[in-house]
Amino acid sequence: MRIGIVGAGIGGLVAAAGLQADGHDVSIYERRPDAGAAGAGLTLFGNAIAALEVIGLGELVREVSSTALGRLRSGQRQPSGRWLVSLQPAESPSVRSLHRNDLHRVLVQRLEPETLHLAQTARTSADGLPVLSIDGHEERFDLVIAADGIHSVARARWGLDRGLRYAGYTAWRGVTTSTGHLSDEAGETWGRGARFGIVPLPDDRVYWFATRTTPPSCSWS
Ligand SMILES: Cc1cc2nc3c(=O)[nH]c(=O)nc-3n(C[C@H](O)[C@H](O)[C@H](O)COP(=O)(O)OP(=O)(O)OC[C@H]3O[C@@H](n4cnc5c(N)ncnc54)[C@H](O)[C@@H]3O)c2cc1C
Repeated sequence: MRIGIVGAGIGGLVAAAGLQADGHDVSIYERRPDAGAAGAGLTLFGNAIAALEVIGLGELVREVSSTALGRLRSGQRQPSGRWLVSLQPAESPSVRSLHRNDLHRVLVQRLEPETLHLAQTARTSADGLPVLSIDGHEERFDLVIAADGIHSVARARWGLDRGLRYAGYTAWRGVTTSTGHLSDEAGETWGRGARFGIVPLPDDRVYWFATRTTPPSCSWS
């Protein structure tokens, strides 16, 4: 089949890799001019790893991810340090963590040449036909996949948009380069209206995130 994919985020790239492994002719259209990704860390649990194995990406993801999280005690604790719930290392052996940019990079590298078309905004057809309008010209496919992210225009055009729900908090994320403070524990600390989490990444990097309960559209400086 000839398949067009809108969006080269993790969703579009994984779909493309799986479909190409199955012998399909795939083209991905990404509106950004570069193939890089924004973001910090990702944790992949056993079900995600199993799905990646099925489409032939398991080895690639293992190469750029760490099993350190599965070797630490992790879970949720109070600011005092008391654990509310925790997993002992042996209970989550398959969990892996990685930098989002690394995942994105290896997914792009896995694509067959000429698959990824950068700086090309694709518009889906309102009547649901497998046609994409790409910067002024039309391309016909047997199947079109909309992987255009959280604010998907395609989903809205196809009447599949269920809207967004504000989760009640805002988040900050980052990656540092030292593991000195990690000891043998990771996971989240839950305070009143706030959370802080740490996840080990490959190469002695640490992914951290913090959340704060805020009304929608609250800006922090
Ligand atoms: C704070 C935070 C932490 C998270 N942590 C985890 C985690 O630990 N583990 C996990 O599995 N998930 C995690 N997630 C969720 C995960 O990151 C997202 O679900 C995932 O990245 C969504 O990927 P996507 O490919 O669907 O969309 P996106 O990554 O948003 O990609 C969509 C792409 O489509 C492109 N695009 C949009 N419109 C067009 C168009 N018309 N033409 C061409 N290109 C277009 C955009 O430029 C973009 O590159 C987290 C999310 C957040 C916000």
